[in-house]
Amino acid sequence: MNIRFLGTGAADFSPLLETEFKNKLDNNARRSSAILIDETVLIDCGPHTLDSFRIQGLDCTKVTDLLLTHFHDDHYDRNNIAKLAKYCPHPLRMWYHADASPEPIENVEFHPVKPLETFKTDKFQAVALSANHTEFPLHYDIEIGGVKLFYGCDGAWLLNDTFYAMMHREYQCIILDGTVGDYNGDYRLGEHNSIPMIRLMAESFRTQNVIASNGILCISHLARTLHKPHEETAASLAKEGFVIAYDGMMLTI
Ligand SMILES: [Zn+2]
Ligand SMILES: [Zn+2]
Repeated sequence: MNIRFLGTGAADFSPLLETEFKNKLDNNARRSSAILIDETVLIDCGPHTLDSFRIQGLDCTKVTDLLLTHFHDDHYDRNNIAKLAKYCPHPLRMWYHADASPEPIENVEFHPVKPLETFKTDKFQAVALSANHTEFPLHYDIEIGGVKLFYGCDGAWLLNDTFYAMMHREYQCIILDGTVGDYNGDYRLGEHNSIPMIRLMAESFRTQNVIASNGILCISHLARTLHKPHEETAASLAKEGFVIAYDGMMLTI
């Protein structure tokens, strides 16, 4: 499974994205969080997702499926989804929380899913999982050819049903919301993770076989204003075995 990071930021976007970094990626001017799996499965489509396709020279007409984590503006940009669907030679399948009622979009096939529901296409098998966030949030367990990925952006901690579903899955990769930096006392405790929260979760991931022994715990959705510069954060957390995502990063698992 190839995972391409199209964006790794939270909603506090750098104003430099409109100027200096309009046509290039930068580790400290992160774009709206989204990943592309095997060139065809997109998770989230925010305000910068199509820019990231363009800058990285990726072909967005190959996208067959869009999995939405929730409906905050930095993850769901209706205009960009409409543009993406227009480029697609086939109807774009959009998967999202069944309680949401998005407006119809031309050439988009709507597939509402409920927490704990399994769904399948010719490309992947996935399970929608409850998330501790707002705007109809879901995490996703995605499996392709026996390789398992957990994507949890946005959300804080893990809800009980979700953690039970993750136990013994031995994910090859877990991507978590790391909005808040390496400090305690932030008010976002109930909607986003901080690095100390991820440290606590990582220990249980290991003891409960949530993550494979050689699995990658990757942190994304980092708020520019709540973190030190990327290079500093990445170097210090690499010592603890965490991978800090950056725009344009590729993971093969
Ligand atoms: Zn977000
Ligand atoms: Zn959000």
